[in-house]
Amino acid sequence: MTDAIKDSTHSQEPVVTCFYCGDDLPQSEFSDEHIWPAALGGDYLSPFWRTDDVCARCNSISGVYVDGAFIRGWAGSRERGHDARMYLSPTEPLKTVLPLDYLGKLTDPAIPSGNVADWWAGPCGATIVHFRPEETSDLWKSYLGGDPRAKKADAGRAYMALASNTEYWLLGALGSFKKHFKRAKRYIVTPGLPSNWTAFEQVNREDPLQAAELAVIDAMLERAKAGQSTPARLEMDLTNVGQRWLCKLGLAIGCQIFGAGFGKHADGELLRRAFREANPEKRKQYKVRGSAYFSGVGGLAFLAWPAGWVLQLQVLKETLSLTIVTPSGQTMAVQVTDDQDLISEVPADIVAGQAWIVVPSAARAVGPIGISDYVAHITKSLPNADLKALETNCIDPATLPAC
Ligand SMILES: [Zn+2]
Repeated sequence: MTDAIKDSTHSQEPVVTCFYCGDDLPQSEFSDEHIWPAALGGDYLSPFWRTDDVCARCNSISGVYVDGAFIRGWAGSRERGHDARMYLSPTEPLKTVLPLDYLGKLTDPAIPSGNVADWWAGPCGATIVHFRPEETSDLWKSYLGGDPRAKKADAGRAYMALASNTEYWLLGALGSFKKHFKRAKRYIVTPGLPSNWTAFEQVNREDPLQAAELAVIDAMLERAKAGQSTPARLEMDLTNVGQRWLCKLGLAIGCQIFGAGFGKHADGELLRRAFREANPEKRKQYKVRGSAYFSGVGGLAFLAWPAGWVLQLQVLKETLSLTIVTPSGQTMAVQVTDDQDLISEVPADIVAGQAWIVVPSAARAVGPIGISDYVAHITKSLPNADLKALETNCIDPATLPAC
């Protein structure tokens, strides 16, 4: 296979083995892969979490179907919003943009047919409804906001009703709304939009489509005023959340430490098959050790960092594993290898345990640092200078302007 491809390239272009598919391909078919996703702060991590040894096709497929399934799902969305307020600037509301909270799909029969109405909550109680075309496949049902690729053709219409008159939260809500619905048409339902905010439109009730959609939103706001709830459906797939993503991370870490040849080793092959298998039933045959999002125990919650992801790589019980502590203190883990020949090649600092702390809302990361140094810092036994610097960006949300 390698030779056949080498012969067919007719050039001196070097051939590289892709970490994810294991194919030997010309270097021009490779692209920069965030092993740790950019949406979770991958840009701020040390070079260990990036690689040029993933082909563009694998990069794109894993971004949408593997990383995306976790990041755009309910669990990923909740985690991204967890404690994000702790990194807001008390004076500059737009310095950090808060993620929105997903509340479900509205079930109002008045929603124009063929459309879905997603209900989101913005900062300080803003109500947001996003009308978009219905998913064409069940695959996208657990992606909040539907098929991420469909946005290119029709990103729908997003409406926001503001709940606060405070300038700080007004600007914060507009900033979050704009960032979240980059491609959609954005309407502000509340009158009196600041004139310098040209990224939004005031609603036009003469427009038949807008009128139909606004009727749904008006009914919601009326119900809220009367203290009644709005019916919505939250589609949560609780099985194996993040499992494919963990397998991808395990494979990539193995390749970073042992070289692309790890993909041909039995442990690498197992991780690859599990990561590439879309069908969860078929994936069960691959006995990868670890714990997906909802199956992870919360016992490591004390290791959590406010709004941060704590990534730990360590050899424990003769096994190299990645453990992730999420912003809310959930644990996710994947075993990379327990082959002692490979373990003997692991650098001593990783054997002892290294940690990376990445805080997307602070646009910063720390690491690698020793896990013992991390624990010493968070238990206040011995402060670590880099972590102290990360903490200086933290605020007490109670000091923010009132809603
Ligand atoms: Zn590939």
